[in-house]
Amino acid sequence: MNSLKQANPVYVTQPDLPPLQDFLPYLEDIWSSKILTNAGPYHQRLELALGEYLGVKHLSLFANGTMALITALQSMRIHGEVITTPYSFVATAHSLLWNNIKPVFVDIDPLTLNLDPARIEAAITPQTTAIMPVHCYGVPCNVEEIDRIATNYGLKVIYDAAHAFGVQHKGRSVLEHGDLSVLSFHATKAFNTFEGGAIICQDAKMKRHIDHLKNFGFVDEVTVVAAGINGKMSEINAAFGLLQLQNVDAALAKRRTIFERYCAKLAGIPGIVSRPQGPAESNHSYFPILVQASFPLSRDGLYHHLREFNFYPRRYFYPLISDFPMYRHMPSATQANLPVAREISTQVLCLPIFPALTMEQVDAICHIIATAA
Ligand SMILES: *Cc1c(COP(=O)(O)O)cnc(C)c1O
Repeated sequence: MNSLKQANPVYVTQPDLPPLQDFLPYLEDIWSSKILTNAGPYHQRLELALGEYLGVKHLSLFANGTMALITALQSMRIHGEVITTPYSFVATAHSLLWNNIKPVFVDIDPLTLNLDPARIEAAITPQTTAIMPVHCYGVPCNVEEIDRIATNYGLKVIYDAAHAFGVQHKGRSVLEHGDLSVLSFHATKAFNTFEGGAIICQDAKMKRHIDHLKNFGFVDEVTVVAAGINGKMSEINAAFGLLQLQNVDAALAKRRTIFERYCAKLAGIPGIVSRPQGPAESNHSYFPILVQASFPLSRDGLYHHLREFNFYPRRYFYPLISDFPMYRHMPSATQANLPVAREISTQVLCLPIFPALTMEQVDAICHIIATAA
């Protein structure tokens, strides 16, 4: 037990940071140019570099993912009802409320943990204008089926792709699906700029519109075309993103190695199940397991047990978004409407995964789980 107990807390994630001295030249440059924000040179360079890295043509940087989600909905004038998942971070649905849109929760698929396309059509009403799915844990949604439904019913699709940095689907970026995709570069995500985010769109005209919206609606010094917001990414964050981009392949490779080690070591432990299925297409941002009834401890029991060893897993996503007070009165938030999401949220535990996690630590976590009883 003592050899397994960590000297310092090991959290579910730890931001990947370059050596501090590597960032100093960028700061010196910003200090001498005195350009701090408003689509400055680092902002422009990061938009181009990220577009190239991700394999997308039109990308607009934001101060954070939530501001990008709110602006994405505004840019397409989404209103009325939007179909979304209860199994996500709360910002997904909050972005709808900030636009006076009614979220309509639809259950998830038990294997992918993403919005179940088979249940979407039954939730469509005359008020429905869009679908907002989430590529949960970086595993692509059933994008073909969602595209088909959206086309049939004339709906827009805005993906919350906060987990899906660098994720490919059938040989191209998953971010090219739907009308818009939204990334987050928050400190806890696979690629971080401290805080940050982006909208990926399909054409230059839409990018211009989004760029106006994130800058108060300004088109030029004296022309304001919309009631825009301040959603701009600063030069410090953009410069940091350029530096991070140099290291992101190595960071993603380390995540993959850790992910595979977990899979190998946890395979065959009764009551521990690996979800979502289809991790080959994920970016290994998260390592969720399901703690099922045949395991000797409950999910919360295992959560507390690991904490005794100074390992801090997280119950993402528990509670469901639909259980928070501003959502739980909604007709689609009922127990009967969301049985799969409800069951998964009581079983899920996200184990630590980040580039600096050592193999010894992974092995210790797996040993604690294998011998928990
Ligand atoms: C992190 C996250 C967001 C919010 O992004 P921020 O950059 O923190 O504002 C939105 N949706 C999901 C699914 C997320 O995980």
